[in-house]
Amino acid sequence: MGSPYDILRLPGLEVPVEAPRAAYVERLKALFPDEAKAIDRCFWACDEAQKATMALFAAKAAPAPVAAVLRWVNARRVRRALSITTAEAVREIRDPRLVAVLTARWGDYGVPPAQSPFAIHALVTDSYANGAYYPIGGPARFAEELGKTIRDAGGELRTYAPVSEIRVADGRVVGVRLVDGDSIDASVVVSAMGARNTVAALPKEVAPEWRREIESIDPSVSYVTLYLGFRGDIRAHGATSANIWVYEDFDVGRVWERPADDDPPSLFVSFPSLKDPAHPDPEHHTAEVVVICRWEPFAAWSDSKHGDRPEAYKAAKERIGERLLAQFERHFPSLAPLIDFHEVSTPLSQTSFVHADRGAMYGLVMSAERMRHKALKVRTPVPGLLLAGQDLISPGIQGAFMGGIMAAASIEPRLWMQMPR
Ligand SMILES: Cc1cc2nc3c(=O)[nH]c(=O)nc-3n(C[C@H](O)[C@H](O)[C@H](O)COP(=O)(O)OP(=O)(O)OC[C@H]3O[C@@H](n4cnc5c(N)ncnc54)[C@H](O)[C@@H]3O)c2cc1C
Repeated sequence: MGSPYDILRLPGLEVPVEAPRAAYVERLKALFPDEAKAIDRCFWACDEAQKATMALFAAKAAPAPVAAVLRWVNARRVRRALSITTAEAVREIRDPRLVAVLTARWGDYGVPPAQSPFAIHALVTDSYANGAYYPIGGPARFAEELGKTIRDAGGELRTYAPVSEIRVADGRVVGVRLVDGDSIDASVVVSAMGARNTVAALPKEVAPEWRREIESIDPSVSYVTLYLGFRGDIRAHGATSANIWVYEDFDVGRVWERPADDDPPSLFVSFPSLKDPAHPDPEHHTAEVVVICRWEPFAAWSDSKHGDRPEAYKAAKERIGERLLAQFERHFPSLAPLIDFHEVSTPLSQTSFVHADRGAMYGLVMSAERMRHKALKVRTPVPGLLLAGQDLISPGIQGAFMGGIMAAASIEPRLWMQMPR
């Protein structure tokens, strides 16, 4: 995505987040010269915590003896990375503006700085050391390419095919049943539909202890999105491929508590069509305006179905759209006249379209408890049932891919040899 790939906009302060990381560190030191040493220490601590976190995750797929060694060797580093929050990790920094800058991108993993384990902040921050990436042709390319690999290997893909049950006989997995009644036999089932959905699909009497453990981990926060369509050259009006994180004040850890009644505390604005070199039409563009919010204000409507929501929900959604649009136009006045289309999604959309429990943005919450939880391993207590996807390791495309690779390598160990690549 080039550099800067993120831009932080705080009252009276704009900070481009540059790649590679050394350039960003120099930028921060130039902006906050009195904090130069603390900035170095902060990034050093990030590297240490990142290494500890990778070791913790490797143990999730490794055979028991190897996992035990990994845990033992890294115990001290892991304990430290999980025992302090992101906010505590930057407490040496005196300038509250720099504290805000260093912690502002918590939306990348969905836990505010006062609650997030430093380990996940370090992991995600370090993943951007060389910049950010966007798939040429858009995110659908992932599905197209992976699908091709599966088909070329003789596999079959079914979409719009929800699993109603993971079938178990004599204590081990024997396949799945689909909502349409179809049954598929399989000696191994890899579930990437989320850990909570996975245990919900198991027969009640199977692995009750594991089910309780998974259900004890909360889902992550949810989110609202305003989707915008523009007619005209938005680049000529100031938009770039960089994501823009807009904060109304320096208290960057606020979640949107009451979306229908209050203004959002922040906006994450991204222009996907400017990130994609294959975008075919210079006169039509899109933006996504995301705000992290609570699920609770939407819970009352959770029994309703997409396309048949109650009037009260529709009215609330309308108000949310108006607030978001007004906020966007205030911060991006030169883009406002080009807006040609807008649509809002709420936590209920996330539930409808990806079956996310309580509209969770990132699956299970990235708490310290979740990160060290022994129930979240590739091999589940049900023989033949493997866990993959973002709940295994961490949210994000990389986290989801890593979960998939770990599950695949647990079936075909030769794949471990490809991991370093
Ligand atoms: C707004 C937003 C922006 C994001 N931006 C980024 C980003 O820029 N970079 C990044 O790396 N990550 C980003 N993420 C995170 C990333 O999208 C997720 O972490 C990742 O997609 C998780 O992949 P997954 O396959 O584990 O889960 P999902 O993508 O949630 O896939 C789970 C699938 O399981 C299906 N499913 C559920 N129940 C059943 C059932 N019973 N039967 C069959 N199928 C079922 C669902 O329909 C869904 O398709 C973003 C997330 C959100 C919400």
